[in-house]
Amino acid sequence: MVSDEYNDCTPGTGWDLHCHTVFSDGTETPAQLVALASSLGLHGVAITDHDTTAGWADARQTAQAQGFPLLRGSEITAQDDHVSVHMLAYQYDPENAGIVELFASTRAARVTRAKQMVSRLAKDFPISWDDVLRQAKKGDETTVGRPHMADALVAAGVYRTRSEAFAGAIASSSKYYIPTPSPTALRVVEVVKEAGGVSVVAHPADYSRNKVLLSDDQIRRLVRAGLGGLEVWHRGNSPEARRHLLGLAQELDLLVTGGSDWHGAGKPNKLGENLTRDDVVAEIVRRGAIKLVS
Ligand code: AMP
Ligand code: FE
Ligand code: FE
Ligand code: ZN
Repeated sequence: MVSDEYNDCTPGTGWDLHCHTVFSDGTETPAQLVALASSLGLHGVAITDHDTTAGWADARQTAQAQGFPLLRGSEITAQDDHVSVHMLAYQYDPENAGIVELFASTRAARVTRAKQMVSRLAKDFPISWDDVLRQAKKGDETTVGRPHMADALVAAGVYRTRSEAFAGAIASSSKYYIPTPSPTALRVVEVVKEAGGVSVVAHPADYSRNKVLLSDDQIRRLVRAGLGGLEVWHRGNSPEARRHLLGLAQELDLLVTGGSDWHGAGKPNKLGENLTRDDVVAEIVRRGAIKLVS
């Protein structure tokens, strides 16, 4: 599915701007992320855990020690007119009151929703809320989600892998599924802008996670509020969708980014499988409120 013909970086010569660690639903630490990105010869990497900045300090420490460039970011849970949307945000002030409040409320909503889903699952499967919490590698600092429920079901012997659980009881089409109450994408764009960061729509054409995608008009509305870019280079976007998104990015003067959506062993996505050009990263750094770590 991923072909270099549809990416504007040759392998290894760019930045991976979409990566998860143990601070959300990845299986590896921020230090391991940075070390792996460096060993692969990438130009730099971004840490983008779901709805948190909790992994930034660890990632920064390793990046500085190794002299490896790091962008700091997050993948923010949102919705737009019932369409579930993930927004990548980079280089914003992590202490901005709007950001702090946004993450606090989404993380609280995630816990409530996860508990509700687990009580549904517990009727049919041998798992409890404690089993799910045991899968959160950083305790309270971990942003909990369905991957931790999936891991608990694997530990209980119900499924062999996380992906199998996502194809089964954890799927958004299953009777156990409950969506996470989320801020609107418009609000996320506004808050990130206010915090001095750059927002990018993550995997805008990934039909494997969304039956309904953001329309071009919805994207245009977000651009008017300050949206910075589109994640065109992502395995969830088909070659056709990539061409369409590139056209839209050109029309709307948006940054074009790429990332693997690496989750360590939690997903088949390989670190560096999709990349962002150096000049695009330089523009994100130029616009951002915080310094590049290197
Ligand atoms: P949630 O935000 O709690 O609804 O969980 C969705 C998260 O599950 C996404 O951020 C993905 O990273 C992860 N995910 C979705 N599908 C899969 C899959 N097939 N295998 C592993 N992780 C997945
Ligand atoms: Fe994830
Ligand atoms: Fe996502
Ligand atoms: Zn992601």
